[in-house]
Amino acid sequence: MADYHLVIIGAGLSGLAAGIRAARFGRRVLLLEQHWQPGGLNSFYFRQGRLLETGLHAMTNFAPPRVKHAPLNRLFRQLKLSRQEFQTHEQIGSEVVFPGKSLRFSNDPALLTAEIAREFPAVVDDFGRLVEAVKAYDPFTPAPRRSAREFLGRFLQSPVLTDMLLLPLMVYGNAEEEDMDLGQFVIMFRAIFLEGFFRPQATIKEFLDLLVARFEEYGGELRLRTPVLKIVGAGDRVSGVRLASGEEISAEAVLSTIGIPGTAELSGWPLDRSAYCGRMSFMETITLVPLRYRPVLRGERTIIFFNTRAKFSYRRPQQALDPSWGVICFPGNFQGLPQLDPFQLRVTNAANYELWKAASQEEYLRMKEEWGAQSADQVRKIIGNYQQNIVYEDRFTPVTIERFTAKAWGAVYGSPIKQKDGRTPFANLFIAGTDQGYLGIVGAMLSGVTIVNQHLLQHE
Ligand SMILES: Cc1cc2nc3c(=O)[nH]c(=O)nc-3n(C[C@H](O)[C@H](O)[C@H](O)COP(=O)(O)OP(=O)(O)OC[C@H]3O[C@@H](n4cnc5c(N)ncnc54)[C@H](O)[C@@H]3O)c2cc1C
Repeated sequence: MADYHLVIIGAGLSGLAAGIRAARFGRRVLLLEQHWQPGGLNSFYFRQGRLLETGLHAMTNFAPPRVKHAPLNRLFRQLKLSRQEFQTHEQIGSEVVFPGKSLRFSNDPALLTAEIAREFPAVVDDFGRLVEAVKAYDPFTPAPRRSAREFLGRFLQSPVLTDMLLLPLMVYGNAEEEDMDLGQFVIMFRAIFLEGFFRPQATIKEFLDLLVARFEEYGGELRLRTPVLKIVGAGDRVSGVRLASGEEISAEAVLSTIGIPGTAELSGWPLDRSAYCGRMSFMETITLVPLRYRPVLRGERTIIFFNTRAKFSYRRPQQALDPSWGVICFPGNFQGLPQLDPFQLRVTNAANYELWKAASQEEYLRMKEEWGAQSADQVRKIIGNYQQNIVYEDRFTPVTIERFTAKAWGAVYGSPIKQKDGRTPFANLFIAGTDQGYLGIVGAMLSGVTIVNQHLLQHE
């Protein structure tokens, strides 16, 4: 008999959700995580006695508890977590800012429609038809790739509006450059424009604690600081994993949440690696300023998506950073949350992994300072000066993301080619999480649950 029914590699959000789902149905599950804490891309650290979240700008897919079929509530039911006890705070409101145009949106889709009527009156009815088509499209049945830009072009004759709608959806969930798979576009459109942003009352730490506690209650075992070195097996089946310590653990099935390139490397799955390594990565700056110096312009928004060029170009920049577009997030600006002093803001810009990776230690630190300053210059034009009396500032780059998550090339959204059915060339090795295709916190968790349901609980 194998040591475990299921070994899961990676205790990010997809691994934790998959673990709870499988353990809940009586499977002996072992969850292996290379780091000292779970969470993966969405984790936390302490600086100057403060807890800072690594990822969380906002969770997508908001739904009140009574909306039974909403993805968020379905997810909670599948994990036997109480949605009533999970206190959430909706966004105050966000904005897309382009040269000479801006669109506000909130968790009430009517606001976006009203804003489009104000800025693009000629196409507001076309936008209505686009929304109906998005609602009618089934993005969950695996289908050949279709272009989201081509789909949008059938409804909207306005390239600027097209780019304004694409910016939030791409920066929060697109592994491709310039275009987006239609299924992914529909998932993100619903998650952001039709359902919307929220955050939990507590921090990501409490959310991770809740997930780990639920996993362990069902009998799951979590081992931290336990990197998997190899997925072992013969022929078209795997038999378990070998740890960095040399220990071998046998399992009836293995679920990997570390991405397609990482899984291929560990298992010997022959793969054209460069086709599966995403090119989109980011630099993120976290800044804390005294509350009395919070930004004066747009300081009430939750998230601002900005582009300063005539055309929005979602691609890896030629230089180390592209300050011309990005995201400004105020993680304290959610309805009903007390304003904390200091005030926190986070800025995200597209970054070039190769240039950050090639830098010497000294150059790397200098690049962080110089590109950080260029990014701040641009951000100031949108929210006003915010850099008086900075209490604390930290930046992470594509290299940091790669180091902490093992995502090849620091690609937050993983491979541009997704494995939607979760299958690999090995009959009992499966993929969940970012490279299966659902992105973001809620998406990653849905991915873990879906793959366990489809491949590992078939006999329930
Ligand atoms: C800066 C940033 C901001 C973000 N903001 C948001 C946001 O506001 N809202 C949102 O919804 N999403 C956000 N995301 C995206 C979200 O965090 C991810 O989509 C989601 O967490 C991915 O989860 P995952 O389980 O698929 O992968 P991961 O989180 O990458 O988990 C994989 C895990 O596997 C572990 N691992 C890798 N290799 C091994 C090995 N050999 N052995 C053992 N363990 C291994 C890693 O350490 C990691 O813990 C953000 C991401 C980043 C980087």
